[in-house]
Amino acid sequence: MITISESGNPKNSIQIPALKRPSSLKRFLVHFRRPSDYENNNVTKEYGFDWLRDEYIYPIETVNRRTTPLCTDVERLKGEYSRDVTDPIRPYEVDYYPAWLSLKEGKEATLDLELEALEELAEDATALIFESSTPHLQIEPAQINLSEILQTGRQTKNLGQTTRDYYLGNNTITITCTGGTFAEHQQIKVFAQSGAQREEVGKLMIYHNQDIYRLNARFVQVNFKGSIHMPSRKVDGMDIESKLNFSENTVEINVINSPSLNPPVDPIGMETTISNWKRYVEDTEEKAKQKFIQALIEYVPIKKNQRKYDYRKINVDFKKFKIGDNIEEGPGINRIKRSITEIDADGIVCNMREFLLGLREIYEEEYTSEPGVAFFLMPTVIRYPKNPSDIDTRIKHLDGFAEDIFSTGRYVMLARHHKHFREMTLVHEAAHNMGLVHSFQVATEEEGITIVPEHTFVNGTTENIMDYSLNTFSFWKYQWDKLRQDNHDLELIR
Ligand SMILES: [Zn+2]
Repeated sequence: MITISESGNPKNSIQIPALKRPSSLKRFLVHFRRPSDYENNNVTKEYGFDWLRDEYIYPIETVNRRTTPLCTDVERLKGEYSRDVTDPIRPYEVDYYPAWLSLKEGKEATLDLELEALEELAEDATALIFESSTPHLQIEPAQINLSEILQTGRQTKNLGQTTRDYYLGNNTITITCTGGTFAEHQQIKVFAQSGAQREEVGKLMIYHNQDIYRLNARFVQVNFKGSIHMPSRKVDGMDIESKLNFSENTVEINVINSPSLNPPVDPIGMETTISNWKRYVEDTEEKAKQKFIQALIEYVPIKKNQRKYDYRKINVDFKKFKIGDNIEEGPGINRIKRSITEIDADGIVCNMREFLLGLREIYEEEYTSEPGVAFFLMPTVIRYPKNPSDIDTRIKHLDGFAEDIFSTGRYVMLARHHKHFREMTLVHEAAHNMGLVHSFQVATEEEGITIVPEHTFVNGTTENIMDYSLNTFSFWKYQWDKLRQDNHDLELIR
């Protein structure tokens, strides 16, 4: 009621009823987003989070001087993020793609809330209400006033041809899985409510977490013995003869008749030794755990006790091998020797796949094959020839090499230890064995094998572990699905 008082005289006051306007719910959407401190070395985030990123579907990023979406088939990717969604929504006739959270029982995730404004918004009495589809997911707070998020200030994002106005509430909402797990994907619905008006304006999908898998990681110390002799050949008009001598944990490279190559240069700080690999394996254990738990897979390095890793050993005895010799010896070593085409200042040049299969044969002579991935720790650099006709020169140096993803791979060779690009190599290679291809993989057929990737992204532009980027740390939701389908390497533990 509004009271108009004339000359302060109550007798003359007139009372006018307030205007009965319909309560007006402004149009906006709510998206859950990963907080900016997700990839922070000081904090361990034990959950997976994925969503349809703007730069994947809008022409925002510039690649080779062209502004383009990072995914080559945008419609197909949108279809991916519509898949498995419970009770899909399309608020105000706008396409909506929920984000995905994977969370183990007993764990929590604190997320950002992004409010996408479809019209000018005002600080009114509208509330955001969160409703979980299961009692095993707790949301804190369960209700937020719209004005709280609006107070963070309006921002505008460039989407190429269009823009989006939005508000971002940092670390606004905490979701905890407690008191039980669920066998089906769950959801958290977001409602906007003002007076009697209520609209569903957002959703977070929660990945089913009843089944947790275990990935055993076994580390195998490869000992080289004997020597490899590369007979004299012409390099830049000069006769070069070289020899690698191996003894326990040491590799000696002798380049004969070559002042220009002796001593070998090491431009990127390469130290491929067993002890460096062991340090790497042990230092990156926490990271590897954190990456695999995104897909609700527990990464378990096999240990003798709590601290000490259980390194297995195999011997590769080259005896006095001369490249070009006839080879008649036995399983493993035959294949390895035949794979070697050259030696040079940075190690063994070979067909890496054949070399790895040779190691596998030697390993399986001594140890029975168990579920999980075995990593061969190599005492020297193993690499492809520098300019082979059949292999892209980009990949002449690989940090690691995984067995063919179609042959129920379970062996990885850690091939080249150096100070760059190394943190994710172990996880990346294990994920290859578990069926993931590169993020930039295109449909291809090679040697009778057909590879059809689910999606293709521009090489080197994403944070995905299967990309060739500098900083990679996440798996996508469809990769969680794929990793978990590996019933050869994984053991169901719960
Ligand atoms: Zn790879």
